[in-house]
Amino acid sequence: MNDIQKKIYDRFIRYVTVETTSNSNSTTIPTTPTQLVFGKQIAQEMKELGISNVEIDEHGIVYGEIPGNVAHAPAIGFLAHMDTVEDYCGKNIKPVLHANYKGGDLVINQEKNMVLTPKTTPSLLKCIGHDLVTSDGNTLLGGDDKIGISVIMTFCEYLLTHPEVKHGPVKIAFTIDEETGTGVLSFDLKRFKADFAYTIDGAVLGDIDCGNFNGDSFVIEIEGKNCHPGSAKDFMANPVRIASDIISSWPEDKLPETTCGEEGFILFLNVQAQLDSATVKGIIRHHDLEKFEQFKKDLQALVAEKQAKYPNGKIHLEIIKKYRNMRDILKQHPQAMQVLEAALKAENVEYKLTQVRGGTDGARLSFQGLPTPNIFAGYENPHGPYEWLSLAWSEKTYNVLKRIVEIAAK
Ligand SMILES: [Zn+2]
Repeated sequence: MNDIQKKIYDRFIRYVTVETTSNSNSTTIPTTPTQLVFGKQIAQEMKELGISNVEIDEHGIVYGEIPGNVAHAPAIGFLAHMDTVEDYCGKNIKPVLHANYKGGDLVINQEKNMVLTPKTTPSLLKCIGHDLVTSDGNTLLGGDDKIGISVIMTFCEYLLTHPEVKHGPVKIAFTIDEETGTGVLSFDLKRFKADFAYTIDGAVLGDIDCGNFNGDSFVIEIEGKNCHPGSAKDFMANPVRIASDIISSWPEDKLPETTCGEEGFILFLNVQAQLDSATVKGIIRHHDLEKFEQFKKDLQALVAEKQAKYPNGKIHLEIIKKYRNMRDILKQHPQAMQVLEAALKAENVEYKLTQVRGGTDGARLSFQGLPTPNIFAGYENPHGPYEWLSLAWSEKTYNVLKRIVEIAAK
């Protein structure tokens, strides 16, 4: 590996040895104290590098900045998250370096017969000659998202040791509880003061996430009319049956298990039903705002139809606004994508603009007023023991960040 990859790798293996698993059942901020431990460590390292105004706030989010050295350049933010997902063990991570991958099997754990092959993981074919990193098969790797932190830190080191490079203000934040979706709620946009930003999280070389679902949730409350079943004719309204009627009447081709790509769905999450009342909970998802609104109208029409069918019961639908596709925000503030695409072209990266089938931290930040697309960090198969990353890809991410600040300063 070259010098830059070595710097990224050395940081990475230090960072993953600190366990930072988040916990969706916790009510504390951050959800686990280990994130605070890691945050303090990274804040210390940022100070030693010479990053200004380094601070870890009361929630555990770490902020810092590198002042600009040219006038009138936008302030650009770079973010990565400190937690790892709770779905798989993130403790005692032992990264394994597979130097100069030759193609063929990538053995993660011989004893457990855990192997990645180009057949199951075609992107490996793009990594011949790369230095790859996996776990030893007993844990996840933590590339999601400690490689993002490693790239940002190495990029900061570059800027601070190359004062001749012209750039505007660079804002850094390492965030908490991305995997539980709660950390970004504590993010202080006023303190961060960036004009636009990028999360460095996820995916293989060239993957750019610039869109996500529009998402709302809903609750249907059903009030029944109960009596002795022997004399219920023309009187009873049974919420158990009404709830199942509503659920089974939603079109089968608009469900998570029957859709992909940019098709939306309704997911019925939970039903609680007795003879006196029932509650049905669910979520609505679509990339396209018009179709998303139509889904909501369809659900309202379905509820109205069932109300007419069951006049002895009462059915009430409430829709709760959650988040929107950042694609529309990024269109209103085109600079973030313009600068990013110019940087990718300058680095000869063949890139793909992706609409994520989910919500992202960047989506929530975009809707709070900070346009924030996501840049690949060079890992694949996150959230499990088959996670792997390419140091050559992470170096590409590093080069793209350098280009971004240079292009934005012009
Ligand atoms: Zn992530």
